[in-house]
Amino acid sequence: MATLGNPQNTIDILKKYQFRFAKKFGQNFLIDTHVLDKIVHAAEISKEDCVVEIGPGIGTLTQYLCESAGQVFAVEIDDNLIPILEDTLSAYDNVKIIHDDILKVDLNALVEEQCGGKPVKVVANLPYYITTPILMGLFEKHVPLESVTVMVQKEVAERMKAAPGTKDYGALSLAVQYYAETYLAANVPPNCFMPRPNVGSAVIRLKLHRENPVRVRNEHLMFDLIRASFNQRRKTLVNGLYNAGGFGLGKEELSALITGLGFPETVRGEMLSLEAFARLADAVSEAQNSSGFLP
Ligand code: SAM
Repeated sequence: MATLGNPQNTIDILKKYQFRFAKKFGQNFLIDTHVLDKIVHAAEISKEDCVVEIGPGIGTLTQYLCESAGQVFAVEIDDNLIPILEDTLSAYDNVKIIHDDILKVDLNALVEEQCGGKPVKVVANLPYYITTPILMGLFEKHVPLESVTVMVQKEVAERMKAAPGTKDYGALSLAVQYYAETYLAANVPPNCFMPRPNVGSAVIRLKLHRENPVRVRNEHLMFDLIRASFNQRRKTLVNGLYNAGGFGLGKEELSALITGLGFPETVRGEMLSLEAFARLADAVSEAQNSSGFLP
């Protein structure tokens, strides 16, 4: 089978199967061998690895993964791509295609079944319309992960690695940084894809922390506080939390907790680090307990 990284081979396959791109599935196929090499290199794949690919498309990146990894399993939603994948991956016996929706499939069960529960490396050129639900699903469902190396919209990569006080900093930065260390592997222009997307792209590698970087008594409460703070970005932290229902506390109590952590009363959520949100969550949790509040 001809390698698909070459654009002419991609065109030939698309013609052979009279494939029509489905916009609703965020289909932008890679046609640049340098970018494909960079993704595989950034993911640090070896024959020891079990790799999960999300959205293999016609199998371009999958061919590269099959060459480098021990085992690959790839989850694709589009019915029309399944016969194409059977064709383009026919030379490999270390790949399995799972015809399913990545947001619905039980990945924990799949990893157990396909990789004996060993932590996997996720590698993908993601469908951009569901980047956040895919990544948060991987983290929150505690899929055993070693790393996640993904092509995403450039602005999303910038949000993932943003620091407190910057314009890109938000709930996504805090969530990603709670679970993983971020590393920007490459910026990728639209002409590396077919069809060309309207936005710039970037490859980001998320290496899972061995231990959470902060200690917090109630992880869920911390993420609820984070979401409430950034839902109303222009508001002060006190007002953001109070307007979100107050977490069982009055405005004065919230204000006292925030100043008690050393922040001015007028601070906005965007100034708080992950560590500061963890301390805030512990303080809110303690105040809730002493007032007998049941969440
Ligand atoms: N990996 C291929 C490449 O790099 O050329 C294709 C990447 S394309 C940006 C995204 C792929 O994800 C498409 O094949 C699309 O059909 C698939 N996809 C979209 N939504 C999906 C979902 N919910 N579950 C699984 N695959 C999905």
